[in-house]
Amino acid sequence: MGEILENLLSAVGVAKWVVLGIIIVYAIFLFVNAFVKTKRMFANPNSGKVQKIWANFHTHTTFCDGKNTPEEMVEAAINSNMSALGFSGHSHLPTEPDWTMSEEGTKEYKETVLALREKYKDQIEILLGIEQDYWSKTDDLSDYDFVIGSVHSIFEKDITNSAVDGARNSFNYAVDNYFGGDRMAAAERYFELVGDLFERTHCDIIGHFDLITKYNEKYIEEKGEPFIDSENPRFIEAERKALEKLVATPVIFEINTGGMGRGFRSTPYPSERVMAFLSKHQTPVILASDAHKTDTLTSGFDTALTYVEKYNLNLINTPRIQ
Ligand SMILES: [Zn+2]
Ligand SMILES: [Zn+2]
Repeated sequence: MGEILENLLSAVGVAKWVVLGIIIVYAIFLFVNAFVKTKRMFANPNSGKVQKIWANFHTHTTFCDGKNTPEEMVEAAINSNMSALGFSGHSHLPTEPDWTMSEEGTKEYKETVLALREKYKDQIEILLGIEQDYWSKTDDLSDYDFVIGSVHSIFEKDITNSAVDGARNSFNYAVDNYFGGDRMAAAERYFELVGDLFERTHCDIIGHFDLITKYNEKYIEEKGEPFIDSENPRFIEAERKALEKLVATPVIFEINTGGMGRGFRSTPYPSERVMAFLSKHQTPVILASDAHKTDTLTSGFDTALTYVEKYNLNLINTPRIQ
């Protein structure tokens, strides 16, 4: 009887330690979990705490189609505690559409940004970049800290009508007149050019990879069908070819929230299908707001980060890796 009692007591003793062990492990789990959550909170620009991790390297100003001067953009970036700001004026095009920098303006743009870099060097890192359009001359880009390569128009002779992010009627006109009314032929042409961006511009970053899908979300809402059908097998194949070409080069892809900041979309470029591809290849990605005014410098970044997490994307915070 005494032996049974003794065994019982020692079992209770062991159980006590087991329970204590479980409590300790659970406490460690809670602590680590709280730490990870706090870190995430600090990464959120709306948390009002540590914010110095935000940077944006896709910024337009009054030198092209932006609404604010470079200095206003710098002040706004400092006020929102950004760690770095990269300017990326639209490169000059021979036909001089109203959204690009003039030749003279490009020189002034460089001088202005470099002067601001010096003036604010103790407060923020400023980089001089350019958004190099596929159709711009690529003579000398060595002055720039980084180059974003972008396709905006698919037909050199008619830059304005063939712009994939311009007026929808103009794009329809271009499809009818230059692609025999075949929308998928226009999409194929677009991705052919995008696939060539590194070869043509030696860019560091691919700007808004699938810009051609800009109007789809709104169009589906309004008319029940996409502006350009990104689920069409021809579209998917053209997109895949461009991706295969680009991931074999040392480029960074943007997770570009520009369409969100301007109210066209609720999601960033590129599509989730493209993100899954980039994830598979562990291609570096960078957040880009494509800001055209001071209040959109980091808009959409928290949404962009949810995609970075969802697809385990290889997020980096520098615009040049070569
Ligand atoms: Zn662009
Ligand atoms: Zn841009």
